[in-house]
Amino acid sequence: MAASKTLRIGLIPGDGIGREVIPAGRRILEALPSSLGLKFSFVNLDAGFDTFKTTGKALPEKTVETLQKECDGALFGAVSSPSTPTPGYSSPIVALRKRLALYANVRPVKTVKKNPSPVDLVIVRENTEDLYVKEEKTIETSDGKVAEAIKRISEKASWNIASMAGEIALRRQRVRESGAESIHKAPLVTITHKSNVLSQTDGLFRSTARSALAQQKYKSVGVEEQIVDSMVYKLFRQPAAYDVIVAPNLYGDILSDGAAALVGSLGLVPSANVGEGFAIGEPCHGSAPDIEGKGIANPIATLRSVGLMLEFLGEEQAAAKIYSAVDGNLEEGRLLSPDMGGQAKTDEVVEDVLRRL
Ligand code: ATP
Ligand code: MG
Repeated sequence: MAASKTLRIGLIPGDGIGREVIPAGRRILEALPSSLGLKFSFVNLDAGFDTFKTTGKALPEKTVETLQKECDGALFGAVSSPSTPTPGYSSPIVALRKRLALYANVRPVKTVKKNPSPVDLVIVRENTEDLYVKEEKTIETSDGKVAEAIKRISEKASWNIASMAGEIALRRQRVRESGAESIHKAPLVTITHKSNVLSQTDGLFRSTARSALAQQKYKSVGVEEQIVDSMVYKLFRQPAAYDVIVAPNLYGDILSDGAAALVGSLGLVPSANVGEGFAIGEPCHGSAPDIEGKGIANPIATLRSVGLMLEFLGEEQAAAKIYSAVDGNLEEGRLLSPDMGGQAKTDEVVEDVLRRL
């Protein structure tokens, strides 16, 4: 048996159903077979709107420091956004991405076998720049107000995100070569942009991504480009055509919500926020106040996010175990939560997945 290694994981349930699904994430880590040689220790951390209401801070400094100093990775549940503008409140996950330099948001979207319109793709979204630098201003002119926003694209961030897309394409190919079934035969990265209109910003993204993916280490990876509007069209017509999609921040945001719609429920779609040597797994859904406290939240997005976090911490074997247990549950379709048309409670779904580990 491999020497045992302990990973320390920060648990940040946040608000709403985050508090119901993050415990499921902990359970699956604790249930991984000991033959993997992995152990876990956990630290509970606060963030979110409820934390803001009691402490005045949505992201307490202690949470950031503990993640930086003690943790190897983390799981983040969800935060509810205030229904009216609330002075002093800003999203803690956006702040965490900045503070921990988590420059990539990675979102796999996948159907299980037997689906008539199969999807198996990953969107790799740049997470630090583009219009999200939030440098906006409003000018009064003789014709009325004019508002402007800066779209910033750097060579460095574009290079990093495209290289990550290359790594992910290679990793997915390794998994296929080890026998996993897939609709894809060869690795492919699709660079998405709008450089026909934005020749400087998206032009720089495009040319830098091309150069990054031309590195010798990615020579087995196919590279293509798609203008973002036609990308949306093709993504919905022919999702099976895509393996890894790399995009600047805003297009990546839009494409990833659109892609999530291809698989039926938000409760299935995971994500990871990734930086150098650190990853936070985060289900794509929000705090779902309409089902909070009923014990029926679908835990699959969180369980898959645990797998993603492990992948980026270098624990691919453990991740593969989780993915196949989850796929087993979905393929059999006997214990599904209500959003999937079933009647199972959160805990029943979790227990079914744990049995399959
Ligand atoms: P927030 O402001 O926190 O994003 P929201 O009202 O937008 O909250 P979401 O969490 O984004 O709610 O969810 C949108 C819809 O999808 C809701 O009807 C919710 O119940 C459903 N949903 C989201 N996640 C899950 C899940 N894990 N299991 C079951 N249903 C879910
Ligand atoms: Mg929402």
